[in-house]
Amino acid sequence: MEAEVRLLDQNTANKIAAGEVVEKPASVTKELVENSLDAGASNIEVTIYEGGTEYIRVVDNGSGMSEANAKLSVLRHATSKLRSAEDLLSIHSLGFRGEALPSIASVAKFTLLTRLSDEEFATSITINGGENIECISTGGNVGTVITVKDLFYNVPARRKFLRTVNTEGRYINEIISKIALSRPDVHFRLLNNDKEVINTPGNGDLVDTITALYGKNLAAALIAVKYEDNGIGISGYIGKPTMLKGTRQWQTIFVNGRTINNRMIGKALDHAYRSQIPKGGFPFAVLDITVDTANIDINVHPQKSEIKFGDEGAVYRVVYHALSEALTKPLLGTSEVPITSSVSKDGFGMVKRGLSGSSGASYPSLEQQIWKTPEYVSETPNREFSMAQRTSENSDIIVPDNNIAFQDVNSGVDTIWPLGQIDRVFIVAQSETALYLIDQHAAHERVMYDKLVATHQEIPTQQFLIPLYLDALPQEVSMIEEYRKEFLQLGVDIEPGGETVLRVSSLPADIKNDEAEEFIREILKLLSENKNIKPADLREEVLHYAACHSAIRAGEVLNIRQMRALILELLNTEHPFTCPHGRPCMIEITSEELYKMFKRT
Ligand code: ADP
Ligand code: MG
Repeated sequence: MEAEVRLLDQNTANKIAAGEVVEKPASVTKELVENSLDAGASNIEVTIYEGGTEYIRVVDNGSGMSEANAKLSVLRHATSKLRSAEDLLSIHSLGFRGEALPSIASVAKFTLLTRLSDEEFATSITINGGENIECISTGGNVGTVITVKDLFYNVPARRKFLRTVNTEGRYINEIISKIALSRPDVHFRLLNNDKEVINTPGNGDLVDTITALYGKNLAAALIAVKYEDNGIGISGYIGKPTMLKGTRQWQTIFVNGRTINNRMIGKALDHAYRSQIPKGGFPFAVLDITVDTANIDINVHPQKSEIKFGDEGAVYRVVYHALSEALTKPLLGTSEVPITSSVSKDGFGMVKRGLSGSSGASYPSLEQQIWKTPEYVSETPNREFSMAQRTSENSDIIVPDNNIAFQDVNSGVDTIWPLGQIDRVFIVAQSETALYLIDQHAAHERVMYDKLVATHQEIPTQQFLIPLYLDALPQEVSMIEEYRKEFLQLGVDIEPGGETVLRVSSLPADIKNDEAEEFIREILKLLSENKNIKPADLREEVLHYAACHSAIRAGEVLNIRQMRALILELLNTEHPFTCPHGRPCMIEITSEELYKMFKRT
């Protein structure tokens, strides 16, 4: 028997649309807040209870609606923002599908209270599960208040799929943070179970907004990005490579002011930071990408959170270049090794060195060559050693300085001596009978790890005169309370310093102050993922971490002297060929192998 084809009734169609638009409390919140922004609000306050599953209220001071428009707004495909299919291509407002309000109202207990500024009365509309629509004239402030109670109360199958109230609440927090970053000119507040968890200043300053959302530590580690090429503009802030999270939650990307998810942009970010951060670490980023609206399609996803670019490759390249440039700027600005004026370009684009480069380069004796942290070395004025260093005018040309390298050979002490650095990551070195490639970070990690292990029982610690204060989430603070003893055994003296503040009074000696936060988060993560971890294993992890983080990073410019000191120390370790994580830190290519490669055998 043939099935009868029928048009769906309104309420059923709304519920189906709700399946796409309203996935969880956070998506309801997002739609409502975006409507408030589209209505020109400068003040938006969101109140939630039980992660938004019981109650979400969004209050705005936007334009409000007339009674007629309020009635229309809850009908399917009612929108004031789009008139025809052509408009879709050039849409500037956040909403345009006219689906959100009716969809939400079909799966919750919904009320809308709204008033235009030049009207005396407000309109109140109540809808329960898409039915029993009631509309009355009543008192109310200018602007709109939308309340959504008992989400999915009439769709038990969906309610079952909600996560814990903590998780749903966190999603709401994340979504409002992202929207707040896109609109520093709007004052956002989020109250979760009567506790204020977000309060942005709304003064138009993005750095102030970042500070309000993520704390002062992060704000102190920002690098500004401003770049334009090929009609694509990138602006915003990225974090220092040392400020990392384990997920992309810290990365907010807007395209023409709209928060989006796009894997390609994440990839471009990873690529730009590639040599400077460990695997699995994600830096902070808030970037606004401006492209001609004709070159994007935002209508590919019901929640409008994904986007298609006309030319993905072009966007990828511009993001990559914008970030690479931003990341090298501070490095170059504080360059360890000033470029000597003797490096000059001759008429053929070749680089040659003046006499000063080879004059009187003397090395400190071996005993004096104690490897300090790169910062320490960087302050040593050693202008002669600008070899293998990119010059500012000739950024692609590397200047080898044979004089100095061979002077090393003559000293007769080294068995392996450095020739230069490739991509600020790999050291090329040689002995009389072999070529060596060394991963500078892995090598230094090996050196540091061996030193740390050699100190046996006690992890050396540093006591702070003035304690460090770290911003933290309430759940992190309670975890610290729980694990206080374990932390002390690891050389970390940490305790709650308030509801969302941690106070640290000592740390393992090799952790730098600006890495304290990341270090502590890392241990917290370990503990929460692995409740029964043995103290010995935890200790091992901390040693690994300390070694890894006090080590020279990939991406750091090293001069020959620094490379030499590193190689010497590496050769003094028991396993110079592998780092503590088991990755290679030095690769040897013997002369026999070279003969083979050149087919001379
Ligand atoms: P869309 O945002 O896609 O247009 P919605 O269902 O989200 O669709 O909203 C329908 C319409 O209701 C909007 O086009 C707008 O005119 C009106 N509206 C919704 N929320 C508000 C608000 N907070 N203030 C003023 N008008 C609103
Ligand atoms: Mg909308």
